[in-house]
Amino acid sequence: MFSKYVRRRKQEGINTMIKKVGKTVINPKHKATCHCGSVELEVDLPDGIVDPHRCNCSICRRKGAIVGTVPLSGIRIVKGEDVLSLYQFDTKEAKHYFCSVCGIYTHHKRRSNPNEYSINIGCLEGVNPFLIETVPTTDGINHPSDQK
Ligand SMILES: [Zn+2]
Repeated sequence: MFSKYVRRRKQEGINTMIKKVGKTVINPKHKATCHCGSVELEVDLPDGIVDPHRCNCSICRRKGAIVGTVPLSGIRIVKGEDVLSLYQFDTKEAKHYFCSVCGIYTHHKRRSNPNEYSINIGCLEGVNPFLIETVPTTDGINHPSDQK
């Protein structure tokens, strides 16, 4: 029934999968764009939006985005690779991507799971993230990698 990715996520105790937000059905390959449209991504979401959450770490608290998770193989850059900027800080493990034209954060390679990207749910075509009822906050400010 579920993809291998979601089976593994379920073993980790994550069960949230959202196939519809408001009237928008999540496609198995869903389009995502920055605000100006320079950057377009194709995102594999065969099980819907997986694990929507916020995070309270130093960068996420400034962005305020609600993100979902996808495996690294699950995002393709359709256009705008040349305008997609990379921001890294501190341990430089995470890779934060944003459009250099409009400034919108699109996705990042996660530090807590380097096999995953987080995708900005607000960039998914037709999706209003404010219609997702339950959005837990990850305690990124107390990330295990920062404990000395
Ligand atoms: Zn843009």
